Amino acid sequence: MRRLLTILLRCVAWSAAAQDLALYKSVVKELSSAKYRGRGYAYDGANKAGRYLEKEFRKAGVDEVVCQPFKLDINTFPGKMSVEVDGRELKAGIEFVMREYSPGGKGTYPLYYIDTLNYNAEKIFADLARPENKDAFVVCDFFFTYKHADDFRRLQSRERCQNAGLIYTWNDEVLKFYKAYGERVIEKPMIWVSSSFPKAARSVTIDIENEFLQGYECFNVIAKVEGKRHDACYVFTAHYDHLGVLGKKVFYAGAHDNASGTAAIVTLAAHYAAHQPEYDMYFIAFSGEDANLRGSEWYAEHPMAPLQQIKYLFNLDMIGDNNPVQYCEVSEQGMEGFRQMEQLNAKNHYFERLNRGELAGNSDHYPFAQRGVPCIFLENEGGDAFAYYHTVLDTWRNAYFESYEPTFKLITDFIEQYK
Ligand SMILES: [Zn+2]
Repeated sequence: MRRLLTILLRCVAWSAAAQDLALYKSVVKELSSAKYRGRGYAYDGANKAGRYLEKEFRKAGVDEVVCQPFKLDINTFPGKMSVEVDGRELKAGIEFVMREYSPGGKGTYPLYYIDTLNYNAEKIFADLARPENKDAFVVCDFFFTYKHADDFRRLQSRERCQNAGLIYTWNDEVLKFYKAYGERVIEKPMIWVSSSFPKAARSVTIDIENEFLQGYECFNVIAKVEGKRHDACYVFTAHYDHLGVLGKKVFYAGAHDNASGTAAIVTLAAHYAAHQPEYDMYFIAFSGEDANLRGSEWYAEHPMAPLQQIKYLFNLDMIGDNNPVQYCEVSEQGMEGFRQMEQLNAKNHYFERLNRGELAGNSDHYPFAQRGVPCIFLENEGGDAFAYYHTVLDTWRNAYFESYEPTFKLITDFIEQYK
């Protein structure tokens, strides 16, 4: 009889876990689908994802869902996106990407390669002043440009140099795309190219459209589950925005970054809606993270409950991977809780280890850490999905689901015992 009971109890536990995993996967799949266009600002992708999440939170049975609007200025690439080198078309999102603050452009231009071995700035500017180099695109290794930042700033200026644009080369086969500095647009097109870019091509033909959105409105989605007490709360955060599109055809699915963390907080909301917690619980899906933590900064300045009431905040950003070692960052005020989490982890082996790194402004926990909130950032870094970070290959098919359940258990068990 006791044996039967044990088996029955196990079945209940398994089905509960299976339920969470099924919901988790369905949210990751939905958010990384083409419908949301990479959850950026072109085609209203992020906002469409936000409205989907609002519905998911309601379905999860939470007590309240609030959308918190805020505005940002952001450069986007919704239209034409073509680059040809000596007549060969490069693949957008693989062989070339735009620097996030680049304008568009259209035309055919000569190429001028910077000689990095015999670097001589005076000679370069003299060369570029010659008629045959008028309107050239300057080609240079990306990292080299950092060593001579002043010269390369001059090359970005229309007034100070007559080159038409810049092409920075990378050794990567698949380029990464960023959005963090897209709140302005520089004067000349700036294109990043992969290791496939020819070493001695003569010309480049581009047809690229950008659209700078000023005062564009997006929103955080905040769900609340009422606890038995209201004098303190727990907060779960994850950003649902991503990098959007690069032209009409290419979108950044962002399954690992960060459909995974967003899906996890939806399942946490469902869990606590079904098991009333001791304290109030807030589940915040932020927008604007990949645009430089805009949503979390806004929330930290306009919180729904005072930040001093937060017992602990968990920021989940990229947990769609398979590394058995879990990376984390912890605020100073979160260290006591972190020590308890480590003990709990040693006892229950959710992960082989929690690998704590230096606190940095790389995700949504940071505005809270700066304001003295006890918090932890959980990111499953360095697994098989990590290679796809910020590339077009961060898709549903390339995401992993191993780190979801241990993350879920670490958090829920910790809250159970944390005083
Ligand atoms: Zn992210």
